[in-house]
Amino acid sequence: MNEPHTSEAKPLDFIRQIVARDRESGKHPAPITRFPPEPNGFLHIGHAKSICLNFGIAGEFQGRCHLRFDDTNPTKEEEAYVTSIKEDVRWLGFDWGEHLYFASDYFEQLYQFAEQLIEQGNAYVCDLSAEQIRQLRGTLTEPGTNSPYRDRPVSENLDLFRRMRAGEFDDGSRVLRAKIDMGSPVVLMRDPVLYRILRAHHHRTGDRWCIYPMYDFTHCLSDMLESITHSLCTLEFQDNRALYDWVLDTLHTPIHPRQYEFARLNLSYTVMSKRKLRLLIENGLVDGWDDPRMLTISGLRRRGYTPRAIRGFCEEIGVGKKQSWIDMGVLENAVRNDLNEHAPRAMAVLKPLTVIIDNYPDDQVEMVTAANHPKRPELGNRELPFSREILIEQDDFMEDPPAKFFRLGPGREVRLRYGYNITCTGYEKDPETGEISVVHCTYDPASKGGTPEGRKVKGVIHWLSAAHARPCAVVLYDRLFMEEDPESDKETEFTEHLNPDSRRLLQGCYMEPALADLPIGKPVQFERQGYFCKDQRQEDPLAPLFNRTVTLRDSWAKLSQK
Ligand code: ATP
Ligand code: MG
Repeated sequence: MNEPHTSEAKPLDFIRQIVARDRESGKHPAPITRFPPEPNGFLHIGHAKSICLNFGIAGEFQGRCHLRFDDTNPTKEEEAYVTSIKEDVRWLGFDWGEHLYFASDYFEQLYQFAEQLIEQGNAYVCDLSAEQIRQLRGTLTEPGTNSPYRDRPVSENLDLFRRMRAGEFDDGSRVLRAKIDMGSPVVLMRDPVLYRILRAHHHRTGDRWCIYPMYDFTHCLSDMLESITHSLCTLEFQDNRALYDWVLDTLHTPIHPRQYEFARLNLSYTVMSKRKLRLLIENGLVDGWDDPRMLTISGLRRRGYTPRAIRGFCEEIGVGKKQSWIDMGVLENAVRNDLNEHAPRAMAVLKPLTVIIDNYPDDQVEMVTAANHPKRPELGNRELPFSREILIEQDDFMEDPPAKFFRLGPGREVRLRYGYNITCTGYEKDPETGEISVVHCTYDPASKGGTPEGRKVKGVIHWLSAAHARPCAVVLYDRLFMEEDPESDKETEFTEHLNPDSRRLLQGCYMEPALADLPIGKPVQFERQGYFCKDQRQEDPLAPLFNRTVTLRDSWAKLSQK
């Protein structure tokens, strides 16, 4: 679905300005971008920013965007991650068409380019260990020292490199390095490693290779082989640009894509890197990559986020060059606004309390009409059964309410949403627990369709007919971390800042009968409660489990203003 996601009125961000300029000048009439994930984990909301940028540009400027797996690190990568990444990109609404690529498909070509560098005298085989290479690299203030193997003749380098490929040497015993400048102010340019020996099974190339190219060598050449016009990455790769350009310049490639860096997404109240997310999973602190509290695309999907909300969020935060933090509330608001507009309304009672309407006929059931959306009549109505015994929320009744409590209490009148006005005439308590077990009310038959003229009733509450309500359970999800930046304090593990209330399971809830047919994952607003969707994993066929996507209001904003 390569459609523009940016509204016309918004000024173009600096990358789109470059793309637009290159199109106008005829340099690149149709941009070719790529999204290059490493298949070593699931995608997160940070990746969504990059996906929306790369695929967004392709759509808006009539170009195309490739999905390319940067699979050069076989010890960490798996086919299952490839599958999930493809699913997530598609779910976000983007399509790479025929342009699905794997860096591993280029291994032979990359190897040939490496031989070319050696033949040109621009690369050499180095026998230093990783530790020795590190020691001779120098620091930000001191230049590095040349490797004793730096001046090996071309023929020896070529021979050794071929034997590295043939598997004659042990893992880690030799590397191929670019011969650039050990005194370069850019540390990355001090004869970086291009190839290493690693006997690891690759999820695509199997055991065909025992040498693997490094990221900096692979990435620029993959971009070049795919004729990428604008290679977009995050700011940490600024220094890598020199090497990116060096490789392509030195090999005199016919095509030389340009790398542009933008600020990565940093979000408060979460951790983003795959390494940290994996740690949460491995320590059993969350329940997998798609735990609804994880800021992974699959977690957000399971939580009830819509692709439209995520795309809207990415559009709202924009693309810039300055590092910044986005408040989690911005993401939550994006989904809240989206669901407010699109999610149908329904009623569910999470902590039920029985109300008996004593003056309502015992055996009578009538249907009342409820709007599926208060502002969108085109979404239609539904019929709800009303009867003598109903369920309301425990919190909507107080034995001895303060004046400002506009819900039910002895002698007080409230309106049942879409139903009648009821007045409380008494209540019963459980003799053992002392808890209120039943509330007695009378209803006003004249209040069908609205409170009669001249009478004021401030409270409107939701309800269900007890005989018709269906059981369900809900998980009230909240932010996974309590600290704005769980990683700020270097002394404390970020896992110390987990929110103990990030997952609260409520059982014994009830929902209106029609929700039995609600498809998994489809969002719904439980009136007065928040937005919910049925979880992807259902264990009890008689009581579906709902995930709370987001509350109706930003409860954290209130807290921080206190
Ligand atoms: P992580 O550090 O979370 O593992 P990564 O950058 O190593 O992320 P890759 O699979 O290599 O993950 O990333 C694929 C693309 O997504 C890269 O182009 C990268 O720049 C981009 N990306 C990753 N994280 C973010 C982020 N927080 N904001 C914007 N883009 C991101
Ligand atoms: Mg990475």
